[in-house]
Amino acid sequence: MKRILIIHTGGTISMKEDKETGEVNTSSRHPLEEISTVLQGRVEIEDDILFYLPSPHIRPDHMLKLGRYVHEKMAKRNYDGVVITHGTDTLEETAYFLDLFLQTRKPVVVTGAMRSSNEIGADGLYNLLSAIKVASCDEAQDKGVLVVMNDEIHTAKNVTKTSTSNVATFQSPQYGPIGITTKSDVFFHHKMTRHDSYPIQNIGKRVSLIKAYAGMDGDLIDAVRESRVDGLIIEALGQGNLPPETMEALERTIKEGIPVVLVSRCYQGIVQDTYGYPGGGRQLRNMGIIFANGLTGPKARIKLMVALEMTANMTELEHMFS
Ligand code: ASP
Repeated sequence: MKRILIIHTGGTISMKEDKETGEVNTSSRHPLEEISTVLQGRVEIEDDILFYLPSPHIRPDHMLKLGRYVHEKMAKRNYDGVVITHGTDTLEETAYFLDLFLQTRKPVVVTGAMRSSNEIGADGLYNLLSAIKVASCDEAQDKGVLVVMNDEIHTAKNVTKTSTSNVATFQSPQYGPIGITTKSDVFFHHKMTRHDSYPIQNIGKRVSLIKAYAGMDGDLIDAVRESRVDGLIIEALGQGNLPPETMEALERTIKEGIPVVLVSRCYQGIVQDTYGYPGGGRQLRNMGIIFANGLTGPKARIKLMVALEMTANMTELEHMFS
């Protein structure tokens, strides 16, 4: 029988709706604690509550604590897989952090819910069962951290929350899911091509994230630089371009040795140094800005926070993002 560790961290999957007011909040008993009864005789379940937090309260230090906890538990007992329940708002950031941090070949699956445990059409228990199915599956090994929701299996690297309320919110734009779950089975149809992990000890660097817009000037970039950040992520326009009025502020930022990482505000595609006009990708690349291929802004931020714990060398940082 497979042995699965479930770690609860909070989120809607751990919450209940007040039938009178409609308010959704944490409840005194974890609504999914009966999962082991449901699975009796099929999977051996051990479940722990590590945090009881809505996911907007989750910080990078919680992510590191969770990653360490997974390592500690796995060192003590031979689990076949781990399932983590998490609020959906920042689930993709925690999943991606774990993907960068964890050193294990075993399946690690993150799941959540869009509806609280006692709402009509509640998806939490179903998603948890699907996640346990994937975590128990030999084929899920060596695939990095996976996100399982709504019958789909996504990679932590590519998945993102796309809808505020739809149960089919988690999508991997451009790439799609790497597998699906059915009532009785798990099917993978794609494989990750590369997987790096970074064994960091701390996560304390300050990295800000700014989104570019038409008519943007350098004020926001200067304000961020003056707030003494360790790094800056910019969600640039299109293929990786910025309004020319931002250039001087960017030059000042780079001159101070603050790494600036560029992603696109488009939800598909990668950033490239195609355009030669002022503010175009060519000028940004020549200035020393790092191009992060294919990551969203929040994930590039997690990666830069992790990378800065390992090095401050610009060439090495660039290499980690290439
Ligand atoms: N706001 C909730 C959270 O992330 C949403 C959810 O869990 O689905 O904690």
